[in-house]
Amino acid sequence: MDWGLSGKTVVVTGAAGGIGTAITNAFQEAGSIVYGLDLSWEAERDRPRTVEVDVTDTSAIAHAFGRVKSDTGSLDVLVNNAGLIRVKDFDQYDEADWTTTMTVNAAAVFLCSQQAVPYLAESDGGSIVNLASVAGRNGQTLSPPYAASKAAVINITRSSALRLAARGIRVNAVAPGLIDTEFNYRLGRQLGPSEGLTPEEYVARRAAPIPIGRIGTGHDVASVIRFLASPHASYVTGQTLNVDGGLVLS
Ligand code: NAD
Repeated sequence: MDWGLSGKTVVVTGAAGGIGTAITNAFQEAGSIVYGLDLSWEAERDRPRTVEVDVTDTSAIAHAFGRVKSDTGSLDVLVNNAGLIRVKDFDQYDEADWTTTMTVNAAAVFLCSQQAVPYLAESDGGSIVNLASVAGRNGQTLSPPYAASKAAVINITRSSALRLAARGIRVNAVAPGLIDTEFNYRLGRQLGPSEGLTPEEYVARRAAPIPIGRIGTGHDVASVIRFLASPHASYVTGQTLNVDGGLVLS
C-alpha cells in the first residue's frame, strides 16, 4: 500500500517505548525517515536517528527539531507519543504527581507541537498525531491525574486543529485502550501482588472485558496513527479515534 509518506520526515516522541517502537516501524515501512526522541536509549536498541531528550525541556526540543530539519530539509509529521502514568491510592496523590503527569502528558504535547509548527507549515501536508487514551473519555481509570491529562490531550488536539488548519497543518489523536506494552506490565508488577496475581495475570484480567477478545498491539495503534498522518486522511482534523477493541462500549 502506498501511504504517500515515502521520503517524509517523521519525529516520534517516547519512541523507545512499546507503542513508539511500533510507530517507528510503521512509518519506516511506509518509506519515511523517522527520528525517535526519548529520555534514554539502550545501546542495543539504538537506531541511527535517535535523540536523547526530555519532552518537557522546550529548548532541547527546539534544538532537536532544528537538527532534524537541517539533516533532512523538512519536518513533516510529529507524533506526540511520550507519556507516563502514576498509580496510587486516591488519598495518596500529591501535587508533584499532578504536575509531572500534566506536564509530560499534556503541556509537552502543546509545547512540542508549538516548536514543530514553523517546520510543519513549510511541509506539503504537515500533520500532528497525539496519544490520548480511552481514560481521557471517562472516569474509568487507575489514575485520576493520568485520565485528566489525556482528556486535556483530546482538547489540545481540537484547539490546535482549529488554530493550525489555516497553516495547512492537520492535528488528530488516537485514544488507545489496553495495549500490550511494558506500560501495563509495570502496572501489573505494582498492583498484581496485592491481589495474588502475576503481572501477566493482572494484565489478562484487565483485558478480559475487551469486546474484540484480545489485548491491543502496538501495531494496532501505529497503523491508525500512520493513516491519520497520511494524505489518505487529508480532510480529517481535530479528531480523536479510539483504538480499543470496543473497550469503551463494554
Ligand atoms: P511505554 O512506557 O512503553 O513508553 C512511553 C515512553 O515515553 C517511554 O519510552 C518513556 O521513556 C517515554 N517518556 C516518558 N516521559 C518522557 C519525557 N519526559 N521525555 C521523553 N520521553 C519520555 O508506554 P506505551 O504503552 O508505549 O505508551 C505510549 C503512549 O501511549 C503514552 O502516551 C501512553 O499514555 C499512551 N497509551 C498507552 C496505553 C497502553 O495500554 N499501553 C493506553 C492508552 C494510551
